[in-house]
Amino acid sequence: MKFPITGGCLCGAVKYEIHAAPIGAGNCHCRSCQKSVGTAYMPVLFVPYEALKITGTYKEYATRSDSGNTMNRGFCAECGSSLFGRNSGSDKIRPVNAATLDDPSIYHPHMDFWVSDAQPWDFMNPDLPKFDKNPKHL
Ligand SMILES: [Zn+2]
Ligand SMILES: [Zn+2]
Repeated sequence: MKFPITGGCLCGAVKYEIHAAPIGAGNCHCRSCQKSVGTAYMPVLFVPYEALKITGTYKEYATRSDSGNTMNRGFCAECGSSLFGRNSGSDKIRPVNAATLDDPSIYHPHMDFWVSDAQPWDFMNPDLPKFDKNPKHL
């Protein structure tokens, strides 16, 4: 994996760089991600908090997570791309929407989580571990 890993929104107004190896990767099937992304799940890259460098102006929308924490969902106010998050319960990890990477093919999910919210038309890789809600280790 080459660093920085780069990505950005649809219109290019917001760009980001990831300067360290992701801590994990998984598909989140929760309802908030479904609504935020506009499809069945969000492919999430979990990156070390300080490793994510953002340029450009973005907005945040706060959603309440199951644990009672606030998930601030960062998106481009121009084109609406859902880019990354900031969870009030964690100063160690930031979730990044892997679909917005410049090279999304480097994303290799190792789990599905929040499968309790998954839609019947959502196809999942049967070989990946499944978690009803958040995995314990994240
Ligand atoms: Zn944009
Ligand atoms: Zn989610």
